[in-house]
Amino acid sequence: MKIGVAGGSGRMGRMLIAAVLDTPAASLAAVSDRPDSAAVGLDVGALVGQSEPLGLLVGGDAVAFTAAADCVIDFTTPAATAAQAQRCAEQGKSLVVGTTGLEAEHHDALAAAARSVPVVVAANFSLGVALLAALVEKTAALLGPEFDIEVLEMHHRHKQDAPSGTALALGAAAARGRGVDLRDAAVRTRDGWTGPRPDGAIGFATLRGGDVVGDHTVMFAGLGERIELTHKASSREIFSRGAVKAALWTKGRAPGLYGINDVLGL
Ligand code: NAD
Repeated sequence: MKIGVAGGSGRMGRMLIAAVLDTPAASLAAVSDRPDSAAVGLDVGALVGQSEPLGLLVGGDAVAFTAAADCVIDFTTPAATAAQAQRCAEQGKSLVVGTTGLEAEHHDALAAAARSVPVVVAANFSLGVALLAALVEKTAALLGPEFDIEVLEMHHRHKQDAPSGTALALGAAAARGRGVDLRDAAVRTRDGWTGPRPDGAIGFATLRGGDVVGDHTVMFAGLGERIELTHKASSREIFSRGAVKAALWTKGRAPGLYGINDVLGL
């Protein structure tokens, strides 16, 4: 399968390029970045620290980039991902989205593209987090409302969105377990004289610092005891390998919106 990596000079972009190059069933067809990025025109080999040039340059033309690939992997920004979804739909290319911080308008763009091509969207492409989400849903269902749910996350100092997409996905898993809508239960910030914790709230706390790849803990705090389910990512490779696996999985797949559980068969 010919894979295109959008946002190739980013932290995840470089990992994704390396993962595609490492995958025998995949070939790296194209790499893009913002048209005004300093990376445009660079050899992709240099971008990922290879001593030999690959003979493939980072492109700034998003239409030509999309045309070169069977499937695009996009870990960029919400606006860039929404635009990429439209191009993938127009050109009949499948899409794997890892971008987080997506708002309703971006989700709408992905859903629109999914009417004509397969689109896999996951806030976290690691197997461990997929398992954690399943455990959180089950635990929330088993424990009942006398246990307060808090989702705690920490990421590196460059992260743009908060709470992380993974924290929100874990909150959604807890809400499903409880049979409530996360939009009604979520308390995403606390500051000042907040008063007591609302019954049934699912709280979020965000830490930022250093080079932390991604830590998530879901706490179930009862009276006299507390259960904590934790996942810690120490390498971005877990996300890039999962995303390449998802790209290969889209081959021959019917148009539709899919998640990591579909890819993993969970
Ligand atoms: P980053 O800022 O290092 O990289 C983003 C890249 O996108 C940059 O190279 C930027 O130039 C590029 N970009 C921006 N607009 C573009 C456009 N219009 N066309 C092409 N490229 C464009 O960020 P990062 O740390 O690599 O994270 C990227 C996204 O992936 C974030 O939303 C992050 O939360 C998410 N992420 C998801 C997972 C997952 O498993 N789903 C894991 C890690 C990070």
